[in-house]
Amino acid sequence: MLGHVGIEAVLEQLKIKAMKMGFEFNIMVVVIAVIWLLIGQSGLGKSTMVNTLFKSKMWKSTLPGLGVPMPQTLQLQSVTHIIEENGVKLKLTVTDTPGFGDQINNDKCWDPILGYINGQYERYLQEEILITRQRHIPDTRVHCCVYFVPPTGHCLRPLDIEFLQRLCRTVNVVPVIARADSLTIEEREAFRRRIQHDLRAHCIEVYPQKCFDEDISDRILNSKIRDRIPFAVVGADQEHLVNGRCVLGRKTKWGIIEVENMAHCEFPLLRDLLIRSHLQDLKDITHNVHYENYRVFRLNQSHA
Ligand code: GDP
Ligand code: MG
Repeated sequence: MLGHVGIEAVLEQLKIKAMKMGFEFNIMVVVIAVIWLLIGQSGLGKSTMVNTLFKSKMWKSTLPGLGVPMPQTLQLQSVTHIIEENGVKLKLTVTDTPGFGDQINNDKCWDPILGYINGQYERYLQEEILITRQRHIPDTRVHCCVYFVPPTGHCLRPLDIEFLQRLCRTVNVVPVIARADSLTIEEREAFRRRIQHDLRAHCIEVYPQKCFDEDISDRILNSKIRDRIPFAVVGADQEHLVNGRCVLGRKTKWGIIEVENMAHCEFPLLRDLLIRSHLQDLKDITHNVHYENYRVFRLNQSHA
């Protein structure tokens, strides 16, 4: 019998290392907005969602946002915050894209976004293949795309389907039903089921992908999440006083829609998935699957 060697100490080492390095995490917010713009509304709440994510309770310990420069192609707006909690540092960059699919002719309207995502893989690759390379390659790869589906209550539009098919092959995608306060609870549920059906019918694998569940506990947890996707979210950047509590919400004539109240919307599920429960998994799949596919494709191309 071997004596106790203390291998579990490696866990502590990993933790210390991760804490020293901090985490880097990029989320990209994408939308195709057509009908909403026609009826006079300017957007689906992407920019609002950026603020919602940063203002939500989770981030009460947040340091002020930094304007860390990101590659500014196609007028992408990036906001970076360094968040510190119990000695863990998280550098969170949220990139906000302008509306896509707003034109009458939406042919290839996804090209700039896919170009941007692949561009970040290319930057990483170019650093990685250098003979003398940096120990820590700066990571600007997109780890997750939050895809805003307009709350039509019908089904996915052909444009959504085409874009999602391409997007899911390139990056982790979490679809959400935008501005969900415009749908009743029953409408949200029926819409969600229809979207899930469309995704299955068109073989679109959004995050968390079934094929990457590693064990039974992953499968149990992720099945529950898959059942709730797309989350019906509401965004807000204003705080209000409700029963003596300060809450983030949208004030209407009939009351306040609280974004962090699960009885009102599913924003907390989105936030928890992206930050609490699946942050590292999103990074791992980006590196081990999406980036790897890109790397293999590019290296094959240059050897051909
Ligand atoms: P973007 O064009 O997608 O970036 O949309 P914006 O964030 O600029 O939001 C457009 C408008 O919709 C603003 O007036 C927001 O206050 C409003 N808005 C944002 N999120 C929501 C939401 O969840 N529900 C409702 N009803 N309005 C929202
Ligand atoms: Mg905007």
